[in-house]
Parts: sequence; C-alpha cells; structure tokens
Amino acid sequence: MKSLHLKAGRDKSLKRRHPWIFSGAVDKVDGEPAIGETVLVKSAGQPIAVAAWSPKSQICARVWSFDAGTRIEKSFFEATLKKAIQLRSVLPAVHHTNALRLVHGESDGLPGVIVDRYADVLVAQFLSAGAEYWRDAILDALVAETGCEAIYERSDAEVRALEGLQPRAGFARGNREAKRCPILEHGLHFRVDVEAGQKTGFFLDQRENRQRLRSLAAGREVLDAFCYTGGFAVAALAGGAQQVTAVDSSAAAIEIAKENLKANALDAARIAFEQADVFAYQRLLRDRGRSFDLVILDPPKFAPTAAQAKNAARAYKDINLMALKLLKPDGLLATFSCSGGVSAELFQSIVAGAAADAGVDAKILERFGAAADHPVALGFPEGEYLKGLLLLRR
Ligand code: SAH
Repeated sequence: MKSLHLKAGRDKSLKRRHPWIFSGAVDKVDGEPAIGETVLVKSAGQPIAVAAWSPKSQICARVWSFDAGTRIEKSFFEATLKKAIQLRSVLPAVHHTNALRLVHGESDGLPGVIVDRYADVLVAQFLSAGAEYWRDAILDALVAETGCEAIYERSDAEVRALEGLQPRAGFARGNREAKRCPILEHGLHFRVDVEAGQKTGFFLDQRENRQRLRSLAAGREVLDAFCYTGGFAVAALAGGAQQVTAVDSSAAAIEIAKENLKANALDAARIAFEQADVFAYQRLLRDRGRSFDLVILDPPKFAPTAAQAKNAARAYKDINLMALKLLKPDGLLATFSCSGGVSAELFQSIVAGAAADAGVDAKILERFGAAADHPVALGFPEGEYLKGLLLLRR
C-alpha cells in the first residue's frame, strides 16, 4: 500500500477520530496513488489509519479505519454496511416508517456515502473520491444486505466537484418507476421523487420533528414556510390544524405536496399551497394583516460552510423576525437550520436577535435535532448539521 506521511505534530485530529486529512497536514505521499485509492496514513513513521486518497480536494484523504491493519476490500464494505443497517433495525422509527437513512457518511464509517431507503428503493450518493472508487463494491453489498433490487444513484450533488468527480444520476441497480416512490411515515403517506427531488428526494432527518409538531397543531392556524413536498403541512393537518398555509418557491415541490395531501384522508379545504419566495411572502402576509398560531421555518442550507455564515445569519434573522411578527401572542415558532456553517449556539443567538428586533418576548420550549437514523460520530461534529428551536411567543 502507498503511504501518506503526516507532517510532524499533525496527527491530533486523527487521534480524536476525526476522519478528514487536510492537504496542509501532509508531508509527502509515496508512489502515485490513483484517485480514491487506499493509502496507509503514517505519523512519525508509524501507521495510524487507512484512508482514501483524494488529491483534488482540500480534504485530501478520508479515513476508512483508525485501525491501520484493516484491509479495505469488499468484505470491509459488507461488514460496515451490516453494522449501519443493524443500528437502524433497533430504532423505534422502524415501527413507524419504511423510509430511513441507512448510511450517514462519516458517522457510519463510510465517508462520502449516503444511502436512504424509500420502501423497496434505495437512493445512494457517492460524494467522495474513495466512495466513488469503491462504488461497485458498495452497490453490491447494499443489494446483498437490504434485499432491495433497485438502487437509484443521486451522485449529482455539487460537493462532488470539489473531489474532481463528474455528476452522475440514474439507476445503478435495477429499474422501476421512481418519480413517486410511496412511503409511509407515522401513518401518513408521502410520494418521493427520487429522480428529481431535492437531495435524495425527502427530508428524513425531520421525521420526528414533523411528528412532534403534528402533536402541537390541533386547532391552530399554521404557516409552513419552505414546505417542499408538504411534510410539515400534511403532518400539521393530520394533527388537527384548523388551517395551513404552505409556501415554497419550487413548483415541482408544490405539485408533489398536493399529491401528498390527496394520498391521505385529510380535508383539502383547510390547506392553501402558495408558490412564492418566503422572504417576500412573509411581508405580503404581514401587509394583509394575517397572523398564525404556529409558524414552521425549515429553510434550505443558507451556509454550507462557516465561510458563508455571515450572509446566512442575515437571511435567518430576516425570516425569523418576520415569523415572530406573524405570530399571535402565545403562538409557537418551530425554526430550523440545516447549515453546517451555523452552529446551534450561533443559530440561537441569531434567533434571539430577531426576537429583540421584532420587539417580542420569546422563550425556548424545546430543541430539535435530526432523527436517530442520522447518527453523529463523536469524533465528527460536522455530522451534526440540523438544529431547531421551538419558541413560545409572549
Ligand atoms: N420542510 C421540508 C423541507 C424543506 S427543504 C420537509 O420537511 O420536507 C427547503 C425548501 O425550501 C425547498 O423545497 C426549496 O424549494 C425551498 N426554498 C428555497 N429557497 C426558497 C425561498 N426563497 N422561498 C421559498 N422556498 C424556498
């Protein structure tokens, strides 16, 4: 195996089991490993890990194992996948849904690999050079371990470019209609557009938060801002919301949201879908004198990395300020951020700033995170990206 030698004293993050090696920490690499090839990581001449080589990226290697003796071959992926699937099989969620995240990248020991299961269809993303290198072995192991014959690949995320990889999408194994994969979540039916939907098609990380807000929705007038395919809106209606206004800028998402509404025995007259920009639409609602008992804000990632945090902070503040103004006294705001570049602490302080500027008194009743099928390896805090607050406006 070719070796990657770390500069003196640059093994600290690896010792803490953080799986990324930045190019600045590398002294030299012996031989010329191919993109994605496995290299032995050495510190002061001693092997400390095995990793996938990714010369085009700032993260020039991602660790497969901190046991330098591990052989990276087909059986490694079979065993690692087995562990990931086993972890999910004992979660309470398996009794409530047939849609789960089976592999959550670094936190499941498979850097750059994401796999979501939507009933009998898997959606896989290979987002790192190492993941791409072992793509076939991983696909075969997925079929063997899950029994699913159809795997749709959504390796069309922008991050692939950072690894020097071309985008790729389409069926990697099997074939079937995948524009409307039917799934069940806490008794509610949803259709997932695996081919053209956002990310892998559905936001599984919000599953338990949708269920929580469903339980708080009875009798309330609800605004679901950034509704995508209607996850929170449908859950709120199922929870007995009096009226739901659901807003998203994507016409394709709203089309599916309407189908999701129809797929459940719910009163369609109590929901209004609006294709609009939330920033402008919240102002329109204010100008019309509308107000709500529950506002849900689940915007896209405004800051993928810390570098974009400043602009993102402005956007988060704006939507939260407007949401608090649209809330009736004693109303609830469920506000989320899935930006890796905005910490939970920073997010809370942005929301506090929004409340101060809105001139309202609000308190935190609960905190939200991602569902348990999105585990976070302790050595990889980047895996914890979704945070949210449930606020009570006084
Ligand atoms: N809450 C959803 C997921 C939201 S994803 C669920 O549980 O399924 C974020 C959504 O924000 C996407 O659907 C995207 O189309 C939408 N979006 C992005 N920018 C927007 C904007 N400025 N105004 C309205 N919607 C926007």
